[in-house]
Amino acid sequence: MSILTYGENITTSMMSTFERNPIFRSVGYFSMEIGISPHLPTYSGGLGILAGDILKSVADLGVPAVGVTLLYRKGYFRQELTEDGSQVEKPVDWEPEKLLTRLDNRVSVILEGRQIQVRAWGYMYVGHSGYPLPIYFLDTDIDENTPGDRSLTWELYGGDTRYRLCQEMILGVAGLRLLRDLGYNNIKTFHLNEGHAGFISLELTRELGYEDFDKVREEVIFTTHTPVAAGHDYFPYDLISHVVEEHNASALRRMLGGSGVSMTELGLKFSRYVNAVSKKHAEVSRKMFGTDKVDYVTNGVHSATWTCPGFARLYDKYIPAWRNDPSRLIQALQLPDEDVWKAHQAAKMRLFARVLEETGVELDPDILTIGFARRAATYKRADLLFTDVKKLLDVGAGQIQLIFAGKAHPHDLPAKDIIKRIIAISKDIGSAIPMVFMENYNMELAQVLTAGVDVWLNTPIRPREASGTSGMKCVHNGVMNFSVLDGWWIEGWIEDVTGWSIGPVPTEVDLIEYDEKQDAMDLYNKLNEKVIPTYYNKDKSKWIRMMKHTIALNASYFNTHRVVKEYCEKAYGTIFRGH
Ligand SMILES: *Cc1c(COP(=O)(O)O)cnc(C)c1O
Repeated sequence: MSILTYGENITTSMMSTFERNPIFRSVGYFSMEIGISPHLPTYSGGLGILAGDILKSVADLGVPAVGVTLLYRKGYFRQELTEDGSQVEKPVDWEPEKLLTRLDNRVSVILEGRQIQVRAWGYMYVGHSGYPLPIYFLDTDIDENTPGDRSLTWELYGGDTRYRLCQEMILGVAGLRLLRDLGYNNIKTFHLNEGHAGFISLELTRELGYEDFDKVREEVIFTTHTPVAAGHDYFPYDLISHVVEEHNASALRRMLGGSGVSMTELGLKFSRYVNAVSKKHAEVSRKMFGTDKVDYVTNGVHSATWTCPGFARLYDKYIPAWRNDPSRLIQALQLPDEDVWKAHQAAKMRLFARVLEETGVELDPDILTIGFARRAATYKRADLLFTDVKKLLDVGAGQIQLIFAGKAHPHDLPAKDIIKRIIAISKDIGSAIPMVFMENYNMELAQVLTAGVDVWLNTPIRPREASGTSGMKCVHNGVMNFSVLDGWWIEGWIEDVTGWSIGPVPTEVDLIEYDEKQDAMDLYNKLNEKVIPTYYNKDKSKWIRMMKHTIALNASYFNTHRVVKEYCEKAYGTIFRGH
């Protein structure tokens, strides 16, 4: 479908003109957040980092795509924790000027009757074989705009519903206008990474004279990312009429009917292909949305980004070419045990040095260390491990160490309470089970954590974890998962081979509450009967064999190179250039 020959001989002059051949790009990837580098704080968590990982693999594989997101001059936020565990949110100061190229192009979008100017900053990510992938960060912080409008692209997931609606109009409508202005006139697929970008279909409708809805559908594909209600934006028509121009507002009414705009519905209705991000999530989404139209492409992570230096060196030596063909990690069973263990211990000591520097707590590299780090959303149940503290002490005293991290959304008070509770417990039981909560979980800390612990714990309320990706980062570093059977883990789990399950094999597809006690008891029992004895067995070879199986069976599959190939085959209709 597309032409994939250019980019073979990249010279630096290519970079200086930023983008020479927009006409060849056939995929536009739109995401509310993109985490492409630890230096660009334009992401909050899993969704943005996944977007970044996908775009990295897109570039590595030479898929002719372009990425679009917002700039977020104030980043998400930097988390500080007070003595009693209260979260304090600080702005992240960063200078787009130093990291991105400011482009001269301007487009505008009318919001609340005002014509708002939008410009963009470019970031050229260069893939493994030198293929350049442009990402555009939209920015309204320019002199011509009113102070309020200038702040529209400052904060990620900040502000109220109006602010969010404005941001999503900027992403979808101004984003597409910008691509057109830059000369991207041959895009065959607009990929909505979550519903936030759904107003692309509105702008496509406008381009087509507000008539040809079927044509719009042919150009869009939609990935849904969460079965949790807070993840699905909804804008009542009152608000739409206040913010959006009249002919656009009426187009939305005709497109969707009802009493408002559900961004998920917009995505579902106006795309030629819809996917969820794991097999289970597809089942849940089909039921939730009442349609069979939902396929799945199980998520992955960018292998070269999430493999720690020690393992990368090992793979380079024994599994050459793994970086641009991570499926080769299937050969990990051949890695020498001793080398695997040394690479792991090196990562563990690097993490422990960091823990000591930041918290003053000295952890023991010979003690089984369990990590839990993710957004502190309540459904993730970071405190399930503390359901029965006495039982935990019976099982774990002197046997385990715990490392936690994670930000709570500034408005999520229950999540903030969970952080407080964990920190309070750490003070109570710290002498028996050393425990730290590290501040400011971000990509860079995630790299150190997902490589340096021995076991990665995940205890979400089933079936709310659409996929989860931090466990996939771990498997690239031979770190086993010990998790509730939800999201990707249902597909990656082989008991005692790639890790351990917690709780029953899932059968439900509803968002029903289920027995927390049962999960907690299973967690303690497995820890006691399997995880701890295997780790401390005199013969380390069983543990190391599991590490190698984890790499071979999980890392070889749960990577974004496989994900991007699946998108090409099932959704984009493009052939990747290969390598
Ligand atoms: C990988 C990552 C996430 C997502 O982890 P989940 O397991 O999907 O919750 C969130 N935040 C950061 C900083 C990450 O690196």
